[in-house]
Amino acid sequence: MFVIHGAYHFWPKRVAFRNDYCFTCGQACRAVAIRTFDVGHIFWIPILPVGFWKHWQCTFCGRDPHTRLRTRRSFKWAGLIALILVSVIFWAAPVTPEDVAITWIFRIVLPAGATMLLMRLLSTPKDTSLRQMRATVQPATDTVCPFCGTPLIAGSRWSCPGCGAVKY
Ligand SMILES: [Zn+2]
Ligand SMILES: [Zn+2]
Repeated sequence: MFVIHGAYHFWPKRVAFRNDYCFTCGQACRAVAIRTFDVGHIFWIPILPVGFWKHWQCTFCGRDPHTRLRTRRSFKWAGLIALILVSVIFWAAPVTPEDVAITWIFRIVLPAGATMLLMRLLSTPKDTSLRQMRATVQPATDTVCPFCGTPLIAGSRWSCPGCGAVKY
């Protein structure tokens, strides 16, 4: 069944900022965190209040700075699962005399492909490229709040006494 679902983001408030690396823009960017009160909806009917959530956003493109990285990795995991499933099907299916060659090719090539993909996924730590790219980004040096212009005060993190925004 086709179910339209998603979340409403109510009462957006900018609560934090930092310099980051945006994978969509392919460059260093200013990212801001928007805190919203999220309510899950099904067929546009809000039914599930899930509370306050913070969403990081690139100020250039408006997307989560790390979104593309996450998608690429989950695509690989999905591909791995698909390869394993198809391998299982080829091993479980009876071999008919006329398809014997092609069946054995698939029985060997598919698991080999799955093994290679798994090794690549395991050998590249989760956020290597993210960590590398973020290392090139200078931390934010703001002394006044970019949202309301109030001078920031020092603490465990710099924060704005005017609007409560935090510098990361
Ligand atoms: Zn961006
Ligand atoms: Zn402020």
